[in-house]
Amino acid sequence: MSDPSGLSPATVTVTAGRPSREPDQPLNTPITMASTYVAGGDIDYGRYGNPTWSAFEETLGALEGGRCLAFATGMAAVTTVLDLVGQGATVVAPVHAYQGSLMAIGDLEARGRLQSRLVDISDTEAVVAACEGAALVWIESPTNPALEVADIETITAAAHEAGAYVVVDNTFATPLLQRPLTLGADIVVHSGTKYLAGHSDALIGALVVDDDELYQVLLGRRGLTGSTPGTVEAWLAARGLRTLHLRVERAQANAQTLVERLREHPAVAEVRYPGFGAIVAIVLAEGELAADLLVRKTRIWVHATSLGGVESTFERRRRWRTEAPTIPVALVRMSVGIEDVEDLWADLETALDTLVVP
Ligand SMILES: *Cc1c(COP(=O)(O)O)cnc(C)c1O
Repeated sequence: MSDPSGLSPATVTVTAGRPSREPDQPLNTPITMASTYVAGGDIDYGRYGNPTWSAFEETLGALEGGRCLAFATGMAAVTTVLDLVGQGATVVAPVHAYQGSLMAIGDLEARGRLQSRLVDISDTEAVVAACEGAALVWIESPTNPALEVADIETITAAAHEAGAYVVVDNTFATPLLQRPLTLGADIVVHSGTKYLAGHSDALIGALVVDDDELYQVLLGRRGLTGSTPGTVEAWLAARGLRTLHLRVERAQANAQTLVERLREHPAVAEVRYPGFGAIVAIVLAEGELAADLLVRKTRIWVHATSLGGVESTFERRRRWRTEAPTIPVALVRMSVGIEDVEDLWADLETALDTLVVP
């Protein structure tokens, strides 16, 4: 996968979004703390732009193959997109997806703003059938935390045929493993809080589009709602992005090794893994209590929500009352980090061994 510059993603990750190469320019974009700017330029006021945001936006835009806008959080990006649909419009969305996205859709529906059609996003025929009369098709792939995979290209073609916009939440795959704009999607959503920033220390979101008109609309919406990122957060995310390819490569390799071993462990009834990425879900054979015990019995794996950091974390998803009832109560979602895989496995195996009922 290469971008129009002809450079491979690893090179784009490192080189995009830098200051110009002139004597005494810094190699990295500094943190610009400014609420206002001398009049007559492109920014004017701190809610409309910031050079530090631009460094993050240019890098992510180059990776996704479009123009990027940074937002305060992933949810700020999600709700900005949902706010675009007209009164009473139909939105097709996955029955399993990030809880915040489903709650935002449910909230708008409860207030009569839109109606939703929830689908199994891996059932392409069902999704295509649901596109009829829809204004927006919301795709998340792989889904959280069920790890279903959508056929983005086929769904997008059908959605466009039906006159619907297509949005893809690309948080789990990252632009290194999946580039939705090249598959025809209209808008890419990111929670940059996860893999892009990658160190569990900043909240940030992003939208990427390859249509200039849509870019201007979203830029206007961001200014109006003030859902702009913090400058330090944008700097951390731009800094984190520089190693995205190394982190994803290592975390994915670790995940693949762990998946093979988890499939053989008698305490594990089911392993869900789409074959790429570093999010794995397991279902404990002995049920909910075993899952709650597992997350308390490890030394390296941290019991915490969220995902995509350098550190390995996991959580029993149904501990949240808002998680979909079709997610098994004993499902533990694992965000595999970049530690040594043998240490990760030894830690897990020790805990899992105590959960085997003879
Ligand atoms: C975390 C997450 C979000 C929301 O992002 P925040 O940065 O927490 O607001 C959206 N989509 C997915 C898939 C996520 O994992």
